[in-house]
Amino acid sequence: MSLAEKLAQERRARLAAERLLELKQAELTDANRKLGRHALALTKRIGATQAEIATFRDENEKVKSDLNTANEKVEQAERRLWHSIQAFQDGFAFFDSNSKLIGANTAYLNIFEGVEEVSPGVSYVRILQILTDEGLIDTEELSADAWRAMMTERWMSPAPEPTVIRLWNDRYLKLIDQRGHDGDIVSLALDITTTVHYEEELRAARERAEAANRAKSAFLANMSHEIRTPMNGVVGMAELLNDTNLTEEQRLYANTIKNSGEALLVIINDVLDYSKIEAEKLVLHPEPFDLEACMHEVVMLLQANARDKGLTLLVDYDLFMPTNFIGDPGRIRQILTNLIGNAVKFTNEGHVTARVTGVPQPEDNTVMLHISIEDSGIGIPEEKIRHIFGEFNQVEDEANRQFEGTGLGLAITERLIKMMDGEIWVESELGQGSCFGFRLPLVVSDGSQINAPELPENLNCVMIVDDMEINREILNRQLQRLGLKVIAVNSGAAALEQMSAEVDLVITDRNLPGMDGLKLARSLRHAWQDLPVLLLSSDPTDTSDPAVGAIFAGVLQKPLPRGALFTALTNLSAPTAAAPPAPPAPEPAPAASVSAPAEPVTPSPPLASDLRRMRVLAAEDNRTNQLVFRKMVKDLNIDLRFANNGQEAVELFQSFAPDLIFMDISMPKMDGKEATQAIRALEGPEHRRVQIVALTAHAMDGDSEGILAAGLDDYLTKPLRKALIHDRLMKNVPPGVAPLSTSEDALRATG
Ligand code: ADP
Repeated sequence: MSLAEKLAQERRARLAAERLLELKQAELTDANRKLGRHALALTKRIGATQAEIATFRDENEKVKSDLNTANEKVEQAERRLWHSIQAFQDGFAFFDSNSKLIGANTAYLNIFEGVEEVSPGVSYVRILQILTDEGLIDTEELSADAWRAMMTERWMSPAPEPTVIRLWNDRYLKLIDQRGHDGDIVSLALDITTTVHYEEELRAARERAEAANRAKSAFLANMSHEIRTPMNGVVGMAELLNDTNLTEEQRLYANTIKNSGEALLVIINDVLDYSKIEAEKLVLHPEPFDLEACMHEVVMLLQANARDKGLTLLVDYDLFMPTNFIGDPGRIRQILTNLIGNAVKFTNEGHVTARVTGVPQPEDNTVMLHISIEDSGIGIPEEKIRHIFGEFNQVEDEANRQFEGTGLGLAITERLIKMMDGEIWVESELGQGSCFGFRLPLVVSDGSQINAPELPENLNCVMIVDDMEINREILNRQLQRLGLKVIAVNSGAAALEQMSAEVDLVITDRNLPGMDGLKLARSLRHAWQDLPVLLLSSDPTDTSDPAVGAIFAGVLQKPLPRGALFTALTNLSAPTAAAPPAPPAPEPAPAASVSAPAEPVTPSPPLASDLRRMRVLAAEDNRTNQLVFRKMVKDLNIDLRFANNGQEAVELFQSFAPDLIFMDISMPKMDGKEATQAIRALEGPEHRRVQIVALTAHAMDGDSEGILAAGLDDYLTKPLRKALIHDRLMKNVPPGVAPLSTSEDALRATG
């Protein structure tokens, strides 16, 4: 091969290599370009990711810092809370569900006076032990063991009641423990020392005030008792004076002394009752009693006053209500006397009606009684209605002040009714009248209750003749409830006009305008011979008036007790016109039994006859009362001795062997009840029981139950009344003693 060929060959080779290089370079460039593009994309992505990371980092930082702040805040709040808890004056602690102390403030820890064991982890039971062991607690009447047992039991209960504990240094802590859902307990120990001391002071102050008030009331009660004793002397002597030969003028003076004395006694008794209630010394003495009889007794006593004023006094006792109840009859009588007495006092014309109804409450055998006293009197101005129940309060005006009174009656009445769990109210219209009502729950007693009467078969229709509407209404209702037909008319003329064969009975009032009851009965006699006519009357003498007895089948005394109405209706069965019943015989006077004795009255010289004189012992410490007593029986032929106290009475009982004893209740050394008990003990069961009559200062404080329980048989209330003393003497004359009296005087006194 030539050089040239060699050179050409080499050139070709070089060219080929150069071409290949170029090709490769082009490939490389392309690859590079691709790579560049890829790198660019990658870089872009990295940039984005980096930005994201940066954001994340920022956020992370922020969260971190926020968390820190929050943590700081919580810590701060915790610190503050703890500071506050520490600053409490009161103890604060919390326990876990195992009753282990988690934490407590200083006030709580201070209770333990630095006992180091009381720190987180100590148990509640151990704390109680420390309290007692270290003498930190005053367990008062409980032993340490009992106190811990009581406190542990309390702690264990699901919701412990707050309790007060007393520390050794007279501090009082009120423990309030609250159990959480998870069993943790938050325990507060509030220091209530000042409150407790303040309350104690208040209580002591109140007790002092009450004691002072009671002392005042007791003083009043004693004072009125002391005043009453001489007043009884005044009244008694005035009564005796009246029995002597006096001129008209002297009699007027003596009567005035007696009436004023009695008025004063009423006032004193009111004051006494009131102060007794105030001094909380008044007790009720419940016993079985007859309410209807009690009402009629009260009305009977006030009847004379009502009649003098021309008032009709009525009792409307629900026909089928029981009458026997358990209650304090003395106090119930006092309430009724006051309300009915007021009604009569403050009524110048018209009527006073006492109504009794009741709602039986079988579950406890009681009746809720509803008693109202209605009058047609002067009324009470509206603004004074509450005022009059206050003590010493009266309506102060012209119309009122013509009436006497203390203004205590209603105050006492209201208190008594409250004591009996009742309630009083009043409705009134000025110039029209008043109605006082009260509710009283009373237990029904077992005694006999009034049953509806067996009416005669031929009694179906009754005519009532009365000009008083209220009277007609009450009677009408009562008769209708017995199943009778009633025709009610208001005058004799109307009665005659409406009379027919249908009428089986006429009940007529005595005082009717125009034709009175007597005239009406006579007129009826002509046409209706067999028709029975009953007379309604408020005059007790009608019952024994022969003129009345001749035409009437009977007399019904107003106010009419249900029993009396029932008896009168039942008794109608016998034909009356043919044989008019004799008028009911007047009660024989107690003296009647000795109306014809042979002995003259000579008190001191021994009797000519063989009969001994009745021996009477009067135990009475007060000289004036002794004198009054002696004078009251001076006309009687008795052998009288006085004992100055209970002891002497017992001695005289043995040496003098009295037939009758009058026994004052309040006496020095030994009182009347004790003396009676001693006498009853001496008598023994085999001896004749001597009658002992108590003399009490005041019907109300002579608790009849106590007196009778002490062995006394009966009692009289001072001031002593000649008639009553004579009555008791006459009733107890034993066989074989000289008659007590022939003197007209004595007979009159006892009549
Ligand atoms: P006293 O009757 O002794 O004054 P009370 O306490 O019984 O005392 O009555 C207080 C007052 O109430 C009476 O003074 C009278 O003004 C008034 N009052 C009581 N009952 C009636 C009544 N039925 N009608 C009008 N006023 C009455």
